[in-house]
Amino acid sequence: LVVLEGVDKHFGDLHVLQHVDLQIGRGEVVVVLGPSGSGKSTLCRVINRLETIGSGSITVDGQELPAEGRELARLRADVGMVFQSFNLFAHKTVLENVMLGPVKVRRRPAAEARERARELLRRVGVESQADKYPAQLSGGQQQRVAIARALAMEPKVILFDEPTSALDPEMVNEVLDVMVGLAKAGMTMVVVTHEMGFARRAAHRVVFMADGRIVEEGDPESFFTAPRTARAQDFLSKIL
Ligand code: ATP
Ligand code: MG
Repeated sequence: LVVLEGVDKHFGDLHVLQHVDLQIGRGEVVVVLGPSGSGKSTLCRVINRLETIGSGSITVDGQELPAEGRELARLRADVGMVFQSFNLFAHKTVLENVMLGPVKVRRRPAAEARERARELLRRVGVESQADKYPAQLSGGQQQRVAIARALAMEPKVILFDEPTSALDPEMVNEVLDVMVGLAKAGMTMVVVTHEMGFARRAAHRVVFMADGRIVEEGDPESFFTAPRTARAQDFLSKIL
């Protein structure tokens, strides 16, 4: 579904993605791990063209995302994104946050979008917060709204960049549970996280990055119990 071929990305002299090849199948859940600065966020950002790439190609469902314009907005809507900082619109209610994309980008009628937004808020367990503003919600609730907002666009894949690392510990699981539910429902997901519990419960594959390269990949069980490379062994010894 998502195919990266020979993707290179520089920030000035810094070679942040070095010839990255990655294929993500439909319904696959890939957890991306790696030390700080290894290029995990950049990897997510190039997939939906929040960042341009130097060379290589990226396709989603066979289509290359154009660099800009209306076509980009439409194709980008196929790639949902959930960030560490929830990035909700502060001056819109929870319900409006979830409705906005479908109405503006997908051109859905407001009534239909509202109905669907309520359904999604129910799915992530924050239906009762629909008419509040983001600041009135806990971090865990806000992040679940952000997930509902991503789902509202009916994306083909959702990228999660450390979705729980800004949360108080007691709220981490309510967000991970929603994500595990999505994974089990067959959503294609790329998840940057250090939550090993999530990786073990939901990931089909773990991709380990260091210095802008994919250094190692494999199924979670073998990666966590028997990492092959010294880089991965070193990384795991620090976080486990
Ligand atoms: P973390 O675990 O800390 O989130 P990461 O693996 O997500 O790290 P990236 O954010 O992808 O790493 O950054 C990769 C490298 O690119 C880092 O060295 C970072 O400083 C650099 N970088 C990221 N964004 C920019 C930018 N907009 N301009 C210049 N350098 C950047
Ligand atoms: Mg990052």
